[in-house]
Amino acid sequence: MAEAGSFADRVKQQADIVRVVGEYVRLKKSGQNFTGLCPFHAEKSPSFAVHPSKQIYHCFGCGVGGDVFKFVMEMEKCAFPEAIRIVAEKCGIAVPRQKERSPEERKENQQRALLVEMHREAQTFFVKQLEATPEGKAARAYLEDRGLDKEAMTRFGIGYAPSGGDVLLRHLKPKCNEKLLVESGLVSRDQSGGRLFDRFRRRITFPIANESGKIVAFGARALGDDMPKYLNSPETPIYSKSNVLYHMDRAKEGIRRQDFAILVEGYLDAIAVARAGISNVVASCGTSLAEPQIKLLGRFTRRVIVNYDPDAAGQIATERSLSLLLEQDFEVRVLALPPIGNKKADPDLFIREKGAEEYLKLLKEALPYVDYLIARARQMDLTSGEGKRQAVNFLLPYVQKIPNRILRSEWATRIAQQLRLDEPVLRAALSKAAAERRSELKIQPELVARAAKPVERRLIRMLAEAPGFRQELAKQLQNAGLYHGLETEKIFEALVIASLSGQPVQATEVGEALEDRDRRLLFEILFEEANEPTWEEAMSCIEALQHRRAERELADVQRSIEANPPGQELRGLLEKKQELMRRLAAAR
Ligand SMILES: [Zn+2]
Repeated sequence: MAEAGSFADRVKQQADIVRVVGEYVRLKKSGQNFTGLCPFHAEKSPSFAVHPSKQIYHCFGCGVGGDVFKFVMEMEKCAFPEAIRIVAEKCGIAVPRQKERSPEERKENQQRALLVEMHREAQTFFVKQLEATPEGKAARAYLEDRGLDKEAMTRFGIGYAPSGGDVLLRHLKPKCNEKLLVESGLVSRDQSGGRLFDRFRRRITFPIANESGKIVAFGARALGDDMPKYLNSPETPIYSKSNVLYHMDRAKEGIRRQDFAILVEGYLDAIAVARAGISNVVASCGTSLAEPQIKLLGRFTRRVIVNYDPDAAGQIATERSLSLLLEQDFEVRVLALPPIGNKKADPDLFIREKGAEEYLKLLKEALPYVDYLIARARQMDLTSGEGKRQAVNFLLPYVQKIPNRILRSEWATRIAQQLRLDEPVLRAALSKAAAERRSELKIQPELVARAAKPVERRLIRMLAEAPGFRQELAKQLQNAGLYHGLETEKIFEALVIASLSGQPVQATEVGEALEDRDRRLLFEILFEEANEPTWEEAMSCIEALQHRRAERELADVQRSIEANPPGQELRGLLEKKQELMRRLAAAR
């Protein structure tokens, strides 16, 4: 993938895979390699290895492997160009400015950069208003009342938009033109299309950052009884509500590490949970989750605990989000917080009243989503036939969305038991529903490395690594067709082609072209402890292969002879046998 001479190639030459991987995995030196716990599968003893000189990684447990870019792509769930950029940044290599394709594109990029800059400016402005103005003092009192101290305000960049109506506008105006001001969403134009005024007035502001931590929008809560209670930035060239999750920029590390995310509704909930020491929390900032948000989350984990508000709107939002998450093959649990007194508790209120520890305890006990749904269904009147039908109709769409057939069947049994339903009837409804499903679970190709013979392993290693005679070795192997019929044939073929090209062989690129189990075997071979290869050794390996082939041929000939063929043919076979035996004897 990294073309010679390209920027990617340069980054790869300079990047230190141990350092880059080391930012994600605790690595320990072990012989010539570094090893650690594999970040791609759960394990207790390390089977994940990084090779510093070959600049590759490989897991002997789950079989993943590749170069530094592949690693970053897998970890960050990003595309190749993004991985190059990340690696370059981690290694302090200057990234060349991207070439814009057209003047329009350049203009758009400039505009986006200006909008981001404007949001940065607005953020500084809002924070200052909160900290240093009389109006801000009232906002501070409100925040303190909600348990947010100075430290929290600073940590989450909370600010205040004053009531004046054009205070921010006047602050930004000398630096930006009117058109851009309106496009930023920070400023609105009145109905008649004339006067400009601040979008956020007399509101507490929460900066909303995109995944890379740049502020692209604001959420704002009314300080008084102004409606709406919560007001967000509109859609702009730098912000789309359905693409952003609040707190994602700070949560992603924790989400990846713990392999699950907590999903809450609002900023204050996310802030409360994060302050309780649970960093892997994000807020959807809306009543329901949108598909792009799920895709974003899916880059870091497939496990989510949904902790929405317990009111009716929150329940509907929970259920709608559940459907979407299930469709995307997420493992979902639901935390429904118990009421405090007679007040329904959102995470913010709950943590304030009951403390972080109690919240954490309930989080650990969060129900698998089906149990949550069954509990919901049980609230329906299950004594009547109509009520039961209703309950099944409520549950069925969710069960239907489970991509895994076995799981689906297990849940059907549980639902039948818990709701005291007639299981065959429920199953009939389910299988009808299942028949309507188009996609079935894809089965992973079997990841089983096979035992290649030592001679093959040695030759593969030489083809991959002995620059001095690699090309000559490849020629000999190809001319004699020595690897045909071996279980390693595909690996040999790929390496021989790469060696004959005269270009340096990149193990990861050869690996890319192979099937998974072949790539896995190739990487295992590359990680074996081995001496410097020599030409003499290469020749003796070739002889060994020739010997093996002669033995195979001899066995074939012997079988044909024993089949008692007609005289002419038998004579030929006997001659062949003599010759093969001579060859084998000479090789000894
Ligand atoms: Zn692994």
